[in-house]
Amino acid sequence: MHHPNRPYPMEDLTGPEEFFCQLADLEEEYQRPPHRRALRKKPLLAAALAGLTGLSLLGAVAASTCTLCYAVSSQGDPPLAYVQGELAYTQAVDRVEEQVSQILHTQYEYPQEAQMELAIAPRGSVQTPEELSASLMETVDQVREVWVLTVDGVAAGACATKEEVETALDLVKEGYSNQNTTSVTLCGEIGINLDYLPAEADLYDAETLAGALMLPTEEEEVPLLTVETVEEVTYTQAIPAPTREQADPALLLNERKTVREGTEGREERTDRVTRRCGVETGRENLAGEVLTEPVPQVVAVGTAQGVEAARGRFLWPTTGQITSPFGYRTIFGSTSFHRGLDIANTTGTEILASAGGTVTWAGAKGTYGNLLILDHGNGFTTYYAHCSQILAEEGDTVKQGEKIALMGSTGRSTGPHLHFEVRWQNEPLDPEKCLP
Ligand SMILES: [Zn+2]
Repeated sequence: MHHPNRPYPMEDLTGPEEFFCQLADLEEEYQRPPHRRALRKKPLLAAALAGLTGLSLLGAVAASTCTLCYAVSSQGDPPLAYVQGELAYTQAVDRVEEQVSQILHTQYEYPQEAQMELAIAPRGSVQTPEELSASLMETVDQVREVWVLTVDGVAAGACATKEEVETALDLVKEGYSNQNTTSVTLCGEIGINLDYLPAEADLYDAETLAGALMLPTEEEEVPLLTVETVEEVTYTQAIPAPTREQADPALLLNERKTVREGTEGREERTDRVTRRCGVETGRENLAGEVLTEPVPQVVAVGTAQGVEAARGRFLWPTTGQITSPFGYRTIFGSTSFHRGLDIANTTGTEILASAGGTVTWAGAKGTYGNLLILDHGNGFTTYYAHCSQILAEEGDTVKQGEKIALMGSTGRSTGPHLHFEVRWQNEPLDPEKCLP
């Protein structure tokens, strides 16, 4: 019985010696560069042989450029492969044993005894030792064919099929993408190569491999596979209100006061964002449109200094007669600079706080006699000297017009009077110019 796809058994294709001589002549005549193709699937070979019949063998050989070779088979099975000679087979077996031994880490011996028989086969179906060893590897139960993904030569994982590896790469791309993503690029040299692992080796499925590819490696803290994505994102953001300053002589130097609150504006922007493994590495603005203009905040900035700054802040501290104004004067026969204003009245006349503040000195101080100093903030202090009695203590807070001392003649004094000083940043001002 002849199978329809295999009209003649292999034995029919091997002929008498003279026939091979004719074939050899034909071979010379039809010399072509050998076309090598791995014979991995036996049905292909069967189909190739299907055209050959005993009667038209010579013509068929000529037309299909068949060649004389050896059929490798084991225990009467259909031929496993065709090779040029016995050496090709032993080389292939050596190769398989070496390869499997390496994979299993133990000495491996290829168990099958093969028979070699002369045969005629299409030239393209004759396998090199490399091709034959690949065919033999498929018959080794202890190892399995796997598809290994490599990134820049480093193995990242293995799947049972090439499709699973490709699916894993697609999943990684998806994993780094969103609705704004315009391009996804796998960086580095990506390889998907056939290899062998022990038959019991655990393999990744596509999802697991994808997950592993997106995790940082222990050594580098970044994933082995770098994926660069480009996104175009459109968003709105606030435009901060600018500050407009205006000089204000009614305020102290550098004192600030908000005249009008500003309001933020709003703008729409489109950026091209580049990411590596999700981490932003670049951003370029493509377009921007102001939706609402911001309204500036207006701030008054003080310019007032010294006397100008003091005006309106102070009241007369006592009543009496001005006996010595601020400035240069001659007293006790020598010219000196009078730092304050002398106001004379009777001993015990009330002395009031010229402005609200904190008592920073309350007690005797050299030629001042009994002295009280008030700190009013903003650089201002006032001095009340020659008092007969001080009615406040250091650290007290006093209000403007509050009684703080009584007039006297302590210290370097010629009679009961108040020596009153107004200082700005510790520089004495003319009190009369500061008072109403
Ligand atoms: Zn004085």
